[in-house]
Formats: sequence, C-alpha cells, structure tokens
Amino acid sequence: MKRISLLFLILLAVAALGGGGWLLFHDRTDPIVVLEPLTAFVSPGLPMQVRASDADSGIRHMAVSVTTGNQTYTILDKRYDGAPTTVEERFTLEPYKIPDGDVVIDIAVSDGSYARFGRGNVQVVASKHVMDTIKPTVSVQSTQHHVRQGGPGLVVYTVSEPAAKTGVQVGERFFPGYAQGGGKYACFFAFPHDMDPKAFAPVLFADDAAGNRAVAAFTVTAIPRTFRRDTINVTDNLINKIDSEFASLVPGQMGALERYVRVNREVRLANDTLLLEVGLRTSPLPLWSGAFRRMPGAPMARFADHRTYIYNGQEVDQQTHMGQDIASTANADVPAGNHGTVVFAGYLGIYGNMVMLDHGLGLQSMYAHLSEMHVQEGDEVAKGQVIGKTGFTGMALGDHLHFAIYVSGVPVSPIEWWDSSWIKNNIKDRLALPEKVDPAREEAEDAAANAAAEQAASPAKKPAKPQKPAAKNKQ
Ligand SMILES: [Zn+2]
Repeated sequence: MKRISLLFLILLAVAALGGGGWLLFHDRTDPIVVLEPLTAFVSPGLPMQVRASDADSGIRHMAVSVTTGNQTYTILDKRYDGAPTTVEERFTLEPYKIPDGDVVIDIAVSDGSYARFGRGNVQVVASKHVMDTIKPTVSVQSTQHHVRQGGPGLVVYTVSEPAAKTGVQVGERFFPGYAQGGGKYACFFAFPHDMDPKAFAPVLFADDAAGNRAVAAFTVTAIPRTFRRDTINVTDNLINKIDSEFASLVPGQMGALERYVRVNREVRLANDTLLLEVGLRTSPLPLWSGAFRRMPGAPMARFADHRTYIYNGQEVDQQTHMGQDIASTANADVPAGNHGTVVFAGYLGIYGNMVMLDHGLGLQSMYAHLSEMHVQEGDEVAKGQVIGKTGFTGMALGDHLHFAIYVSGVPVSPIEWWDSSWIKNNIKDRLALPEKVDPAREEAEDAAANAAAEQAASPAKKPAKPQKPAAKNKQ
C-alpha cells in the first residue's frame, strides 16, 4: 500500500515538472566549451575568451585556472543565475605575472541539469601553451618617408623574430608588411586621399606568435595635396545604358535614374569592398621592376577627382574617382603596366570587364571598362604585354581605360608609379626589385615609353568617338 502511494507521488511530481523538468533530470550532454585563441604561444596581454553553451539546460558554473610549474592561479570561479544557454568570459593572464615557460589552462563548466546526483554534466578542457613575455624588436631601416596625400609610402624594417602579424596601421586601414628574408620586412602603405594631413600618423607594429606587440618609432613627412572637383552631367544616354546593364545587379522596379544612383553608391561600395580582399591575394616578394608603363592616350578624369553628379540641373550624387582615365582610339590595346600575375579578370560592377594585376607586397594595378580581356586569373604577364582592349563596360559611356593602382586594396595616385625617379628614390634604394633587364636600359626605355604615351595625349590624336568634347564625362 505504502509503495503504491510513493510511486503515485513520484508520478505526480514528474507530471507537475512537465517536459522541462524531464530534461533537467535526463540531460546527458556535456556543455560545449571553446577557448580562443587556441595558440601554442600566449603572452600576458593576449586577449582570451571562453565560450560555453548548453542548449538543453543552460550553464550553471565555470571555473578557469592556469597552472605553471607547481603554481596554480584561479582566473575565474563563477556561478550563473537562471542557467543562461550561452556564456562568454574574457580575460588576460596579465595579473598573474607568469614567467616564460609551459602553462596549462584548465576550464571546467557544469550545466544546469540535475544529472549526476544534482551536480550537472561537467565538461573539462585542458590546453597546453608556452608563455612568452618577450616583445619582438622592430628597427626601421628606411629613412625619408615623404608621402604625398593620396599617394603611397614604403617602409623597410627588421623584426627580431618571425612576425605573426606586422604592418602599418593608418586610421582604420591596415597595410600588411611582407617578409623579404633575413628578418627583413617591407610594407607599402597609403596616405589616404580623404585623410586630414594632421591626422596622418602611420603606426608600424609587429606581433609575435604569442601576441606580444612591438610598436616602432617611424616618422613620415606628409605632403598635402588638393584634388580637383568635377561635375558629371548625367545624361539620359548614360542612365539608360546603366539601367539595362545593371538590371540584374540592382534588381526591382525603379526608374533609370534611381538605378543609376544606386549602382553608383551600392555597387561601387560592394566592388571596393571586394578589392580589399583582392589586395591580400598577393606575392610576398616584388614581381615588378622599374617604372610602370602608361597606356598611350589623352588624360581624362584624374585620381581623387571629387565628382558632383547633375541630372536635369539637380544634384543626384557625389563620389570620388579613384583612378586615371586615359582615352585613345576605340578598342585600343591595353598594355600591362608592369610585370605581375593576374589576380582578377572578369566583370566587376562599375568597373565592367576588369583585369587586376598583382605586383607583390599588396601592390596591384587595375585596367577597367575593357571590351576584351586577353588574360585570365593566374596568368603571368610582362611589362607592356597587351592584356586586353579598351571599351566602355560598367559605369562608362565612352571608350576609355580606367587605370588605377592599389596598395593592399586601397587606391593610390598612379602618377608616382609612372615616374622612374620616384621609383628609384622611394623604392629601389630600399627594396631589391627583380632585375628583368639591365636597370639603366629599363629606366631609359620606361622614360621614353611614358613620354611617348603622354605625347599621344595631344588633342591632334584621332578621337575615340565623334562627341570628343563630352569625353570629360566618360567616367
Ligand atoms: Zn575612371
């Protein structure tokens, strides 16, 4: 009789607890525990985090400790009210003054269930690391960093141990440095065209594998520049061309002008974001030599022209033009600016059919609005080799080449790269470039080719299209 009533009471209790109660007794899964970063080396300042989760019954308790030799330090011992499904704890090992050598980090997390006689399921994670408290030493070898606004700079330096991450930070933008062998690194960085010269303060740093960061003293002379302002008269011809070409990229019912403005803003932004990723697909060693070759033709819109777009007398948009436009005859041959590897050859939104060449260390050159592309991704090209033909694919109305230089995905002024003496003073004297031909001969040939290309710029040259005076707005 008693046994029956006891059984009845237990059944009643279980029924009262319902489904959730059932889980609390029957959760047999351990919580999931993840320590990040899970690196072989750790430093005192390395930010670490533990994420623990248990979908069934939540997290009740977490304990984190670190053991070195015969010393154990408690980093965390925390109980959670209400058994949250996910908890996240951040810490560094800074407060414990742990000496260099082996350390073990132990983490024990229990869930909110009543399994295992009410203690819950416990997940225990132990990881071995090596504590490294010594910062690398960074010494800058290059001097005289004169950087024009919108232009590139190069810093050459040594790091006393292999760097896990190194380069130059300029505001929000990071420019990676690349190992050149023998502890030497080289980093191209940009003085962004839209940055206040007073705010231009590049910071050179190197992190070792443990996360110890060394920041090196490094001075630059910022040379301010003013850029042109330009007005683009948005014609019906232009918006209708964009409307049909971009109907799939910016889909939906809208007027041709609205699609034009959205392409100019949204597609441009998406394209430029992709170029930041393309900028990281680069050779760690330089692939180019000497000055870049300029395509023969008339200079049109310039780098960092600030453009106001006018349609029917109304301002409809503002953007900045991040390259140099060159107009020649229609479907003119486009020469590779320098030796390199094709990292992109395809259709990319506002740039239309576009070829991007990688020259190493994040330095890349762009050839946009092409009618034909004669290369594909992975091809190696030589300076002057024809890689395609000019056209007006993408956001362009008239036939021209949009030529641009990028440094780790950030556009910089192309002018410097066409200038043999700038290359000599700012790069060749600091960084060994591959010598494809005799350097003196190369310099003479580059100078002659680029002077001839400028000559081709004279208005006497046969225009690409009859409406040449409107070419200013070719985009
Ligand atoms: Zn352009």
